[in-house]
Amino acid sequence: MTTVTLTGTGVPYPAPGRAGAGTLVRSGDTVLQFDAGRATTLHLAEAGVLPHALTAVLVTHVRSDHVSDLPDLAMTRWIQREVFPAGPLTVLAPAGGAALFVDGMLGPYAADIAVRTEHVQPSPPEVTLHAFAVPDRPEVVWRSDGGLVTVTAVGVRHEPVKEAVAYRVDTPDGAVVISGDTRVCPEVEALCHGADLLVHEACRAAALAEAVRGTVFATIFDYHADTVALGAMAERAGVPHTVLTHLIPAPGKAEEEAEFAADLREGAIAAGSPWDGIC
Ligand SMILES: [Zn+2]
Repeated sequence: MTTVTLTGTGVPYPAPGRAGAGTLVRSGDTVLQFDAGRATTLHLAEAGVLPHALTAVLVTHVRSDHVSDLPDLAMTRWIQREVFPAGPLTVLAPAGGAALFVDGMLGPYAADIAVRTEHVQPSPPEVTLHAFAVPDRPEVVWRSDGGLVTVTAVGVRHEPVKEAVAYRVDTPDGAVVISGDTRVCPEVEALCHGADLLVHEACRAAALAEAVRGTVFATIFDYHADTVALGAMAERAGVPHTVLTHLIPAPGKAEEEAEFAADLREGAIAAGSPWDGIC
């Protein structure tokens, strides 16, 4: 069985009950975490996944809302190692800023690591980083032992962030696409063909264009995925289920959540089909 769990749907601005970006994909013995924003370690524990159980963490890009809990995952896996044995934490990240972040993320913990190593832990924490060049076309970047689960990456449109990718996980049960942060783009659309589930960031850019004109939010909205355009893209790609995450602006009540769904439906209908794919 393959399951997909959102460990966080938030953005840098804190919203009560909404952790930072993260998606957990479990398929058999394979446990993959995509991004690790604020409170990921806590929400993984609530989902029954302690850090030692992670097969790998895959980073979409280096922005704080996607990586702020990654050091916590690595440190906690290490601190718990005597109780829950685990090898180095495997992390995949695009070469460039994201890989640099992973490479140096435990540096600020040097004093803590030194004390714990002297008194409790037999050796320092280990992170095995696999950095890969951002692919122009979908490219397999990871395979499970035995090859039942594969992860494909492709570069997306999140400029001015230089290195940002979306991922697709293919399992024996089906395929899920995880957008990371991006405008609606053909790269993710291509990744969606034949997939069963799309987890995509969502920004009500078109609906709120007038309200944010001339503010910093207009700039931010420019490099995120407009929900109406996203609905059209999902329809064109034929992906049967779309799950919205990384919601901008964070909805505070049910009616505001419904507006995201309405945008998506509007886009899908404009692309030519009666909508029945939201979940
Ligand atoms: Zn983000």
